Amino acid sequence: KVRVRFAPSPTGPLHMGGVRTALFNYLFAKKLGGDFLLRIEDTDQNRFVPGAEEYIIESLKWCGLVPDEGVGFGGDFGPYRQSERKAIYRQYADQLVESGHAYYAFDTPDELDALRAEAEANKTVFSYDLHTRGNLQNSLTLPAAIVQQKIEAGDPWVIRFKMPENTDVVERDLIRGEVKFNTNQLDDKVLFKADGMPTYHLANVVDDHLMEITHVIRGEEWLPSMPLHILLYEALGWAGNRPQFAHLPLILKPTGKGKLSKRDGDKMGFPVFPLLWSDPKTCEVFRGYREDGYFPEAFVNLLALLGWNAGTEQELFSMQELIENFSLERVVKSGARFDPEKAKWFNRNYMQQKSDDELASLFNVILEEKGIRPDDAKLVHIVGLIKERCEFVADLWEQGKYFFEAPSGYDEKTVSKKWKEDTSEKLAALVAFFRTQDNWEAIAMKEAFSAFMNEKGWGFGVVMVPIRLALVGSSQGVDLFDICELIGKDETIRRIEKAIV
Ligand code: GLU
Repeated sequence: KVRVRFAPSPTGPLHMGGVRTALFNYLFAKKLGGDFLLRIEDTDQNRFVPGAEEYIIESLKWCGLVPDEGVGFGGDFGPYRQSERKAIYRQYADQLVESGHAYYAFDTPDELDALRAEAEANKTVFSYDLHTRGNLQNSLTLPAAIVQQKIEAGDPWVIRFKMPENTDVVERDLIRGEVKFNTNQLDDKVLFKADGMPTYHLANVVDDHLMEITHVIRGEEWLPSMPLHILLYEALGWAGNRPQFAHLPLILKPTGKGKLSKRDGDKMGFPVFPLLWSDPKTCEVFRGYREDGYFPEAFVNLLALLGWNAGTEQELFSMQELIENFSLERVVKSGARFDPEKAKWFNRNYMQQKSDDELASLFNVILEEKGIRPDDAKLVHIVGLIKERCEFVADLWEQGKYFFEAPSGYDEKTVSKKWKEDTSEKLAALVAFFRTQDNWEAIAMKEAFSAFMNEKGWGFGVVMVPIRLALVGSSQGVDLFDICELIGKDETIRRIEKAIV
């Protein structure tokens, strides 16, 4: 059975790239009738941020990516939080030392810093690896008795992986095809630390094995870790049933140059987080897609197309359609450029698909905040008229505020072009005519108005824009008679009279 996992570290809010990883895992699992797990990788306690785990879970739920198993969701392979699995990792770290695949190293952080500084002075980079390990303080160079002594004395130590010499690690990544690494280029990564915590690499491999993960689908930034992970599976004796790998392309800046980061979002005015987040340390508040008014369906749809396509022209997909169409073969290798304008296009499309009733109730929240309580039927009618001009629910206010309040001023350009010397006089005559009208429905009014205009011999252009100015404040807005009907006779007359004086 296919089993995949989303394995974020709770180091802060979930970036859209992280949600895309979760989404692709989810789609892959659901398409193949498999399980989607949420594992929290919180072994690096220096980077732990309170609230981040709850944030991750909330984000996934908002997107509709509900895990079958994991932190907060139960399951038979728990605990799913790595900090609760410490004892498990220790056992495998010991096993690796015993089998000769790993070793104790005693070099202090200061000593390592000195080596790094020295290398830097020589314009090289220090690496703890098969070239240097022979000159350093570890269980490969020190006599066994000394090693034992050091451990017993409580000297700081780490367990490092003993990277084999000059070995090619070749793997067929499900997205990138054949990828090859030579171990001479790789260092002896730390697997376990004296504080009883494993590093990412050991915990990740052990858990993927114990949780019976079949496919590791993750961001491209983890590709360099793949050879170590493969060698760890082999060293632990799990080579025969280890997961397959698929590394997703980077999400690139709108310019296409470089990886999308939070700073781009801040600079260019689009959110990179799915939800609103306030950093508990700095109290800084970060805007998210949810708060920006994106519909979760639109957000999921736009994420799906960052690096994947169905091979057709189709761009709008429901979650069900995504599940049906998804395959790793159609995920691209090259980076996926994020286009904030296209993101809005997706939201606009989902907005247009929503019923007027649903949008009206969403709009009502905004109106309530402003203390406006319109009649339900009227509100639905208004929404139906203006929604096509909107990308977001919040736009409904911008596009329709004149239904609820008289304009606070008049667009000067339009006034200077369209407000002639005799305009006020004409409007006064119109007001007098309006007063005589009882049927205030748009269609009836339009007819009566036309008759009146014909009788006067006035061209429509002469008064239409001025009336619009009086009612809306600018030359914008939906059909004039719809506006009249919805704001009502008294308000129509009041606004026109106000414009005259
Ligand atoms: N904890 C890693 C992260 O934060 C997981 C990487 C992986 O999926 O192996 O992305």
